[in-house]
Amino acid sequence: MPDDKQSRLDVIRQKIMDDEVTPQLAETAIQLVFGDGNPDADVVFIGEAPGKKEDEQGKPFIGASGKFLNEMLGTIGLKREDIYITNIVKYRPPDNRDPKPDEKTEFLPYLQSQLEVIQPKVVVTLGRHSTNCFLPDLQISKVHGEPQRVKLSLKEDEGDILEVIILPLFHPAAALYNPAQRQTLIDDFAVIPTIMNKIKSN
Ligand code: URA
Repeated sequence: MPDDKQSRLDVIRQKIMDDEVTPQLAETAIQLVFGDGNPDADVVFIGEAPGKKEDEQGKPFIGASGKFLNEMLGTIGLKREDIYITNIVKYRPPDNRDPKPDEKTEFLPYLQSQLEVIQPKVVVTLGRHSTNCFLPDLQISKVHGEPQRVKLSLKEDEGDILEVIILPLFHPAAALYNPAQRQTLIDDFAVIPTIMNKIKSN
């Protein structure tokens, strides 16, 4: 295994293709949308699955939700180059349907490997699919904007633990055309610098 983070991420990307993860989705999608941004980032954002634009261009969050996400990042002084961003499911589901439980399960080990390489301090889960991947018992409508300290076991058999703060947020697509949720999302985004400052002062 190479030791710089980007090369290690490239190995995981290739492994998804070699392992033929979710062959049905791979068949209908144009390409794998693995992840993008800074592998040394302290903050990783995790969405649900690529949409049409993402499928066409091979990068996560570049359509309408992505533009809105960039706007939200701007409200806290962050740019896309400052964060890493990915999805649970890495092929576009046909007609943008919700990812199925078995599709999320199949991709989870690869998402865990990405986190193991990046070693973020904060994981921002966008929407209920992403949130429930890590916090299956919590309802996003109740816990959005509330940081959750979590010990993630990345490789169960090897006892590899990553201690992170998970911040569940509403998915930007849900807030895009809903002014009340939009304001909630802006307010919840403001929690990110507070968490980062706390981590740095500890
Ligand atoms: N929605 C997501 O959850 N992910 C993307 O990459 C784009 C839209």
